[in-house]
Amino acid sequence: MRALEKIRNLTDKFSIHIKEALEIVCHVLEIGKTQLYTENPEITPDKSQIIESLIERRLKKEPLQYILGECFFYNIKIKVGPGVLIPRPETEILVEEVIKRKNLIANTGHRVLDLCTGSGCIALAIAKNIPDFHVFGIDISKKAVMYAVENKALNNIKNADFLVGNLFEPFREKLFSCITANPPYVKTEDIFKLQPEIKDYEPFEALDGGKDGLRFYRDIIKEAMRYLLKDGLIFLEIGAGQSDAVYAEASMEGFEVVDVVKDLAGIERVMILKN
Ligand code: GLN
Repeated sequence: MRALEKIRNLTDKFSIHIKEALEIVCHVLEIGKTQLYTENPEITPDKSQIIESLIERRLKKEPLQYILGECFFYNIKIKVGPGVLIPRPETEILVEEVIKRKNLIANTGHRVLDLCTGSGCIALAIAKNIPDFHVFGIDISKKAVMYAVENKALNNIKNADFLVGNLFEPFREKLFSCITANPPYVKTEDIFKLQPEIKDYEPFEALDGGKDGLRFYRDIIKEAMRYLLKDGLIFLEIGAGQSDAVYAEASMEGFEVVDVVKDLAGIERVMILKN
């Protein structure tokens, strides 16, 4: 059977979105979409079996990105799998805001700290797009840091390093010109209401922001002043409805809010602070 016919059969037989069937088929055949349409290759029975086993995983609600083992974030390829959060498109806004202000940040220095780095997506996107910065990514999960290190190699990025640790723990004071973080920010009780792809597959600790979802913002903002150089900037991704609480926390610790950037849905998504 040829690939395009196979895709049609799959979407008829299983209630799977055509776009996802297409991605799975291309992944197994190791071809791009253009090649799929122009060559429409024959699918051997063993490849067909692999494709169906991946479709079955998807029907059990495993995220497509885990099945494919990778996704794209900003302009880099990121390996993902169980144990690491899948990068979200909203998070690209944070990277964009850092890049916009790279000259301002460079006035203080070149070291960036990415807390709760997970797959390393933020750290690596910054490192790749601002080659004269050095980005340190840190995560409490060993598994996550293993992914981040692999992603660094995969993208041939030299100016990033990853460490296992709890927030600022491994670092000396007054070292960074910029701190970034997309910490876990879902209220514990809300995690169980999320779609199965998230609640049943993505790491609980990468989602859980504690009772009110704000645990990490409090911990980060309380300590950030000690690690940030004067005139340094902090970029925090925040969840829907969290901006007032994070704003209050930041003001209490002596930070000034420089900007709050909305995402495409109009939700306040990235908060930028200055010391
Ligand atoms: N910083 C990573 C990301 O944005 C991981 C975030 C997390 O684990 N909460 O995808």
